This record gives sequence, C-alpha cells and structure tokens, in this order.
Amino acid sequence: MNRFYRIAIVGSGPSGFYTAKYLIDKNPLIKVDIIEKLPTPYGLVRYGVAPDHQEVKAVTNTFDEIACNSNVRYLGNVCISQQNGNDTSSVHRNIVTLDRLRKLYSCVVLAYGASSDTLLNIENEAANGIFSARSFVNWYNGHPEYRHISNKLNFKDVTDVVIIGNGNVAVDCARILAKSVDELEKTDICIDALHALKRSQIKNIHMVGRRGHVQSSFTIKELRELSRLANATCLISKEELAAGLTDSTVKEIEDNRPKKRIVELINTIADSITSDDTKYVDDGAKRKIHIKFLLSPTEFLTDSNDRVSGVKFEVNKLTGMPHHQKSVGTGETTVVNSQLVLKSVGYQSESVDDRFFDTKRKIVPNIGGRVLTVSASSTVESLSNSAAIEPGLYTVGWLKRGPSGIIGTNITDAKETTASILADIAMDKVGQVWCEEFNRNDLLTTCKQPVVTWDKYRIIDQEELNRGKLGCKIREKILSVNEMIHIINDNKQ
Ligand code: NAP
Repeated sequence: MNRFYRIAIVGSGPSGFYTAKYLIDKNPLIKVDIIEKLPTPYGLVRYGVAPDHQEVKAVTNTFDEIACNSNVRYLGNVCISQQNGNDTSSVHRNIVTLDRLRKLYSCVVLAYGASSDTLLNIENEAANGIFSARSFVNWYNGHPEYRHISNKLNFKDVTDVVIIGNGNVAVDCARILAKSVDELEKTDICIDALHALKRSQIKNIHMVGRRGHVQSSFTIKELRELSRLANATCLISKEELAAGLTDSTVKEIEDNRPKKRIVELINTIADSITSDDTKYVDDGAKRKIHIKFLLSPTEFLTDSNDRVSGVKFEVNKLTGMPHHQKSVGTGETTVVNSQLVLKSVGYQSESVDDRFFDTKRKIVPNIGGRVLTVSASSTVESLSNSAAIEPGLYTVGWLKRGPSGIIGTNITDAKETTASILADIAMDKVGQVWCEEFNRNDLLTTCKQPVVTWDKYRIIDQEELNRGKLGCKIREKILSVNEMIHIINDNKQ
C-alpha cells in the first residue's frame, strides 16, 4: 500500500493553483486537493479581473491543465470556517474547520486571499450608495455573494461617482463605469450589472488619490487604456500636478524609469485638455474621468434618506523623503458631489483561525510561507530559529504577503512557499498519509453536502458557455450557488 504526502490548498485563485503546480512538478509522491469555498474555481481571475480584460483571464487555461493532472483534485463548495455549522448564504455548502483539515492532510496551505476591505473610518461611511470597490468588482463579475448589490445600486439617479484611491482596482472601476454598454455586453460581465449599467446616467467619474500623481499606484498600461476610451475623456488638473512636485517627488522621478514614463503620460493627458478645451467641454456625450490628486476624504455627506450626496476632502501636501512621502492635511477642504462612492483603498484578508492571523497587518504571519503562531509573529523580525513555526501549515498569495501584485507575482510567491514545503518534506517534517487511511477519512466522502469536483465544475462551465452563446457573450455566469448545484444534479439525471 502506497503512502503519499496529501496536501490541502485552501483557495483556488492564482496563488493556490501555482502552488499546486510547483508541488506536483517537484515530487511525484505529492497529491494535492485544491479546496474552494465556491463551486467555481480561479478566485480573483474569475471574480476580480475585469470582464473587458479577457486576455488576463486566459491564464485559466494553465489552471485547467493543473486541475486535470492526476495528482490534483479540485474540491469546490467546501468552506473553511472558524466554526462548524451552516453557512446561510447557501443551503448546500460544506463547512470544515482548519483543525479538521490538518488532521486529514499531511499539510495545509492557506491561499484564500483577501475577502474584506480596508475601512476609511470617517463619518457616514455606512450611508447608502457607498460601496467598497471590492464589492463592486465582485458584483459586476457575478460573484454569488454580491448579487444583492443590484438591489442597492440605482444608476438611474447617479450622475457623479467618486472613486477613492488610485490603484489599478480604482482604474478598473472607473473604466467599467465609463465604458458604454455596447463595449461590455459581449464580455462575461454579469447580466445584472449589464442591466444596471444600461440605466447609467453617469457624467463624471472622480478618481481621487490622497498623495500626488507620482505616488499613484496605478500602472502605465492601465492608465493609458483609461485615457484612450471611446466613451470618456480623462481630465487632470495642472495645478494638482504642480502641487505634487516637491523636491522629493522630483528625486523619485529621477530615480525610477517606469515612474518617468507614467509621469510623461500624466502630463500628456493634462496637456491635451488645455490645448484642446472643446474636447471635453463640447462633447456632452462623453463621460469625464477626473483624475485627482492630493485629496483625503474626511466625511461623506448624506441627504435626508441617508444616501450619499457628496464627499468632503481635505487638500493635502506632501512631506517626507523620496519614496517615503506622506500626505498631510492643509486644513483647506473641498466637496465633490456624488451619488455613488466606491472606496478603493485596498483589500484585507480575514482570519479562519485567530491563532494564525496577524490582526494588525491582516495577513497570516509567516516566514517564506511557513506559518507562525501569532504570539511569535510580533517578534518576527528578530526570529532566528524555527521554534515559532507551526508545523504542517503554510500560506501563499495575498493572505501571505498582503493585497498587492499582479497575477504573475503569485508565481514567485508560490515558488517560495513550495520550496519551504519541499524542504520540510526532505527533512521529514511533513508526515505521509497511507492511501488506505486517507480514503477512509477523505474529505470528499465525509462532506454532507455536494462537493463540486472538476468534472462537476465542467458542467457549470459548459452551461455558462452555452448561456453566453445564446446572448452572444463570452460567458453568462451563474449567479447563485444553489443554481450551480441544481445544474450539476440535473445533469446526472
Ligand atoms: P493599491 O494599488 O494598493 O491602491 C490602493 C490605493 O488606496 C492607493 O492609492 C492608496 O494610497 C489608497 N489609500 C489607502 N488608504 C487610503 C486612505 N485611508 N485614504 C485614501 N486613500 C487611501 O491597491 P488596489 O488598487 O486595491 O490593487 C491591489 C493590487 O492588485 C495591486 O497590486 C494592483 O496593481 C493589482 N491589480 C492589478 C490590476 C491590473 O494589472 N490590471 C488590476 C487590478 C488590481 P497611498 O498610495 O497613498 O497609500
């Protein structure tokens, strides 16, 4: 009877899939189960990457190959939670604790990403019409847990949108709001979002950063795309650019070639407006994207129905050394009217087990992917031995390093975590599981609710492609977990 290393990877986003790939590539005795809360795989690639960026979503072809490897199983509809119990979002979902998972497997890799938001902690943050960009992105991408947002978003009354933050998520949101429905309807954008956006009366999208243009976190490709939209014009104030040009900023540009290029593009956008005023003043059909800098939100203004009506900002100046400049309020304030606000100030991970979660940094504390217990993590910088490392527990992706980086960043990240696991296997720190014993305790057979294996996911996938074809779209996503399970069950009959 064979013995294997049975490894559970919790989360089927890019970091989870890449970790599976490097593990099975390196050791034929490793068998991986990729465990996913939803029936559908790919995490942020399916529910984060914008529907008009299909070329990025093509990475799923690589993930499909990994899922079809005989040493990999996909187990969807299994949720790792702090408690055993029923998840109210789906009558079908299986709930498993981390402790139980660790008993079943040789080791567990936490790769479930970041499913919560950074809060601004300012007045009226809970008012109607204010959403995190993360919720908005999940909604237009058809994530089953964000379908309810359709009831709260009424584009009919929205002329002005404020997006707080100027990272690539903010740019994604601005672009989706700025594009015409014609430009989106053939993508895999979810049907609810498409219907809602058809009613859009949006005229102005204000994307607002708290620091200067040189400190923006969007990348050049994304900004260029935004500046070339058929249905929108980008506007940048030259005064704001001048205000951000401190001595430290000048040094930051000198030091950094990609920065130099993005600053050139920002200046070109700003120049194109002043040199051709009619372009944005006269073209009433176009939406305007106001890319603004040096403004921090201090309060959300609301109307008598507790609905957002504007955002009060404090005007900032920059202080500090090059690459460490901070925004500091000047006391001057300004208000931007807005009936919809998207807060795009960063994602946050959530804990599934507080023993292994740093509540300050909102990550699973780790060294090279090896998880540390929380009490030890506070001294992680000075840690020189392995006493604090939790045996058989690893992490990867945004949960490991925080919410930054593109999909490709997960390749290096997964390689690092994989190297830690393989080294621990080589040093006999990871136990093997007898095949017979595993079959007896297999998660698949002990789950009470339907587990969505790869073959079953393919039924959902095919149904979505078929529905897409009918609507001349790439794919029509199924928006409810229960419906997904019904489709699988119907297919069996
Ligand atoms: P991000 O790049 O970290 O941007 C977050 C933004 O929020 C920054 O502008 C930040 O300003 C601002 N912010 C944070 N706290 C704030 C506060 N209290 N008040 C006002 N502003 C605040 O994060 P992201 O846009 O969520 O993207 C996450 C990662 O996914 C990034 O690495 C991004 O590049 C990647 N991504 C890539 C693509 C793509 O390649 N097309 C698409 C989407 C996402 P400061 O800089 O001043 O902190």
